[in-house]
This record gives sequence, C-alpha cells and structure tokens, in this order.
Amino acid sequence: MSYSKLPGPSLAPGVPLPDRVAKCALELGREAHPPAARQLPLPGIGDQTADWSVRRSSRARRLSARVFHSGRVEIVAPLRVSQRRIADFVARHREWIERKSREGRARANTAAAQFPPPQLVLAAFGEHWRLHLAGGKGAPRVVVRDTGLLAITGDPGDPRRLRRAVLDWLTRHAQAHLGARLAGIAAEAGFSYQRLQLRLQRTRWGSCSARGTISLNVCLAFQRPEVVRYLLIHELAHTRHMNHSARFWDCVAQHCPQWRTLDSELLDGWRQVPPWMFP
Ligand SMILES: [Zn+2]
Repeated sequence: MSYSKLPGPSLAPGVPLPDRVAKCALELGREAHPPAARQLPLPGIGDQTADWSVRRSSRARRLSARVFHSGRVEIVAPLRVSQRRIADFVARHREWIERKSREGRARANTAAAQFPPPQLVLAAFGEHWRLHLAGGKGAPRVVVRDTGLLAITGDPGDPRRLRRAVLDWLTRHAQAHLGARLAGIAAEAGFSYQRLQLRLQRTRWGSCSARGTISLNVCLAFQRPEVVRYLLIHELAHTRHMNHSARFWDCVAQHCPQWRTLDSELLDGWRQVPPWMFP
C-alpha cells in the first residue's frame, strides 16, 4: 500500500491506511510528504475528462494547484483547510488549471501517437540510444543491435505493444545498472537491504519497505547520475530510519552533503521524463 497513490473511494479521510509498507514517497514533481498526507478524489469540482485529486499535507502552508505533465491536477491543501475553501480556491483558478490540464493532455496524446521516439537519452547511465523499427512478425521485441542502436523487431502495427516492448527493455536495463550502483553504494557506506525492484510509477521516485525492499521508478533513467545517487542514498538511509526525521537527514547528509540541491532537482525531475512514458 502506498499513501501517495489515489486511494479507492471506500477510504474515508482520516482513516489510517492499513499496514503501510512504503514509508517513504518521493513524488514526481513534488516534495516528499509525511505519512499523514492523503490523496482524495475531488468529485464535482474537476472537469470530467481530467484526473483531479486533493492532497492534504501537514507541510503545506497554503492552498496550491499543480498540473502534472500528463494533465493530471493535484490540489494541495493544509490539513485544516475546509472543503468549502478548497472549492473556492479551485473556482478562482479554474480557468488556469483547466487550460494547463488540457495542454498537458494534448501534449501527452501527441507524444503517444509519435511512438517510438527517434532516440532514447538515458542521462543516468550516460547513454544515447537510437531506436529503429526493424519490422517482422509476432510480438514486438527490443534487440540491442550495436552500440547505441536498439532495433524493435516484430509486428509494428500496434503502438501500445511497441511501447510495452521498449518499456520492458528499459526496465531490465535500468534494473541492471541501478542494481549494480545500489549494491556498490550500500557496500561502500555500510547499508544493507533485501532486494531491489523497478517499476514505472506516476507519483513516486522511490520507496523503501520495512522489510528492506527498495523500489525505484524506471524514470530515474532520465535523471542525472548525481541525482540518482542522491535518491539511492535516500532510500538506503530508510533502511536505518523509516521516517524523515532529523536523524534520517543527518544520515543522508553524511553520505551526500549536497542532498538539498539534488532533492530539489529531483522535485522537478519529471520534466526530464519523455511524455511517451505516460501516454
Ligand atoms: Zn524518504
């Protein structure tokens, strides 16, 4: 269970989430937020086609609206602000929010239609891959043809299956790279964890469970190596401190003195992620 995802409609505000596994959530385009934060659907005030939600945050000092790359809208509200004030806030800014949301969705749709992209720039690994449709029959598959060249073989007719094939390749590739890097940093800095898993996630860069499973977002492949290193240290530090306490940040700072700068760079890291990742 992760508190940074949209809970189902059955979850009422203020009800604690059962058996929370992930203790940390570094959100795409947002600050890491404490476990008290919730995302709740906001029926009736968003437009019908976009994905709207309200997130209560103990860190928020005022109401704010955020429109993500995909057009998704998030209203962040301090814990004690009433529904009425949230609705007023939305009404005042509705025009801007809906315009940005429409633009985001249009951009995402165009990008999805233009799949595959001509190239894949994986900043985290210092790699630049050209993509080429090689044709053929059967399920699409990605084959490394040469240094810097990825061929997608198989039936090119279905863009969703093509995208899936590229995503599968990228996930395996990132798992190998990030797995080696995580193991290296853990050994060097004296951390231990159980296992690493990679997933494509819309809202989180990484998390660490109480059992020591570190989950990383595949989209880290598009971030700078220094930023990735910071996130790995952040998640490893959670193997000692399952919170964002002062002791946790001391532990991070010990291994990554520039963590503040890198943390804020990661907040905007979704800008580096190509839109086809989230059609
Ligand atoms: Zn964290």
